[in-house]
Amino acid sequence: MQYGDFFYPMPANEPVLNYAPGSPEKLALKKVLKQLKSEVADVPLYIGGEEVRTGKKTSIRPPHEHKHLLGNFHNGDAIHVKKAIDAALNAKEKWAGMPWENRANIFLKAADLLATKYRALIVATTMLGQSKNPYQAEIDAACELIDFLRFNVHFLSDIYRQQPVSGAGMNNRMEYRPLEGFVLAVSPFNFTAIGGNLPTSAAMCGNVVVWKPAHTQLYSAQVIMRVLKEAGLPDGVINLVIVDGPVLGEVCFEHPDFAGVHFTGSTGVFNHFWKTIGANMGKYKSYPRIVGETGGKDFVIAHSSADPDVVVTALARGAFEYQGQKCSAASRAYIPSNIAIEVKKKLVAMLKTMKMGSTEDFTNFINAVIDEKSFDKLEMYIKAAKKKGSGVKIIAGGNCDKSKGYFIEPTVIETTDPKYVTMCEELFGPVLTLYVYDENKYEETLALVDSTSPYALTGAIIAQDRYAVDLAVNHLRNCAGNFYINDKPTGAVVGQQPFGGARGSGTNDKAGSILNLYRWLSARTIKETFVPVTDYKYPFMLEK
Ligand code: NAD
Repeated sequence: MQYGDFFYPMPANEPVLNYAPGSPEKLALKKVLKQLKSEVADVPLYIGGEEVRTGKKTSIRPPHEHKHLLGNFHNGDAIHVKKAIDAALNAKEKWAGMPWENRANIFLKAADLLATKYRALIVATTMLGQSKNPYQAEIDAACELIDFLRFNVHFLSDIYRQQPVSGAGMNNRMEYRPLEGFVLAVSPFNFTAIGGNLPTSAAMCGNVVVWKPAHTQLYSAQVIMRVLKEAGLPDGVINLVIVDGPVLGEVCFEHPDFAGVHFTGSTGVFNHFWKTIGANMGKYKSYPRIVGETGGKDFVIAHSSADPDVVVTALARGAFEYQGQKCSAASRAYIPSNIAIEVKKKLVAMLKTMKMGSTEDFTNFINAVIDEKSFDKLEMYIKAAKKKGSGVKIIAGGNCDKSKGYFIEPTVIETTDPKYVTMCEELFGPVLTLYVYDENKYEETLALVDSTSPYALTGAIIAQDRYAVDLAVNHLRNCAGNFYINDKPTGAVVGQQPFGGARGSGTNDKAGSILNLYRWLSARTIKETFVPVTDYKYPFMLEK
């Protein structure tokens, strides 16, 4: 029974703590880091509110210190995925029937718990498990996740208010039902906030969810499950499974109650999902929603009027923060010939000042890449660039060392071939490729930016000349779902820059915006007629 129209106004973004010397947040964080380093965590699957331990354990180690054991996670199999689906479907009726203000307040409470009691823990687990420095962990695991929860409550509140008009003698109304069946959420390693958002955005709408985080994000993912439980999320609404991707796909994509997938990760995996779902269409009760935010080959193009210092800073931060492991990270740059020498000189000098090492040493700006597989792949591209006859040269970094952790120096490759492999493919690491173009060939270079990669996630134009800005905005309309003017192409904030790209970068359903929530709803229109007619004849049928 609802005796009011409970509306949640637009929240403010969670303030970013700065962890300055002597600040209470810095002291609290260091204490939790120390505590976590002295323990061995035991990460279970969460099915129907139960913590499931299979005994088949895999170790969790900091990417920057792979000899240290942080904990173990328990590996599940197809049976666990089936159990998770059953638990979700069992929870569905009660959850979908729960009044909106009760559902909303669970997620708002979770946001408040993350902002207070669990802040240091979610930041510390992200620092250790995913090798993020304190600032990168704070803006992701604390602020962005809190924002996702609070803003989505507001956006959904807004959707529920959207109602059709009613003509005379009738009432029309729209019900925003959850989808029939269960939603599968599959999240990547690089953002704790995405891990939290993919299952909760669907669950908030009244859906039940099976969530599979990346194995390399499980150390912080388990904190999200603990927070949601403490916030009052009923058992079975979100179930966390730990299985290999193909096992997950085999069970979920064959299931008649599969209602949709909320994915963030690489383009290849998403394409595989799409094909499998298409091949299984005859098996489902409804057309599944397929939502995926995928890879990027994000660009920065500077115009001849650009301020070289703005270009250098946008590249240094945009390409190398979190070791370039952001889907939005700048990885190809187009620099005009008139400022190229200055930009390269200053960029190389700036990179030399970046300290690399463990996340526990707060003076480090650069930490490790996520795992050995990623390290080996990046090293392979760097070695190829170093080879004689490769036609490219490495102007900064280029050293790789995995003896203690998976460390790759911030690396800049300069190429004279704008279609060199590292200008086109997503590497997902601290490697930026730079191409110097003739300053008089700006429009031709815009065409090159447009045609070089299959992705269209983020991009930036850096220019003082307003005509040049306008040209870029128009020419590059379909090259990026998030476009920046005189800024780096990373750092989207929930509610401010809704995030997502098109082409090979995904379905562009804009995480952290109202658009995303529509995908987890299935509207029912209800028309009620007050005084129904009792004769089938229309007036036009009468002659007099
Ligand atoms: P990934 O594609 O390797 O993995 C993503 C998730 O899919 C993981 O949980 C993984 O275990 C799972 N998975 C992999 N193969 C599977 C299979 N066959 N069946 C079912 N599940 C499977 O990506 P990643 O390395 O974790 O993350 C990096 C990628 O994510 C990059 O391509 C990056 O651009 C992209 N990304 C995109 C956005 C965006 O908003 N567009 C945001 C973050 C990351």
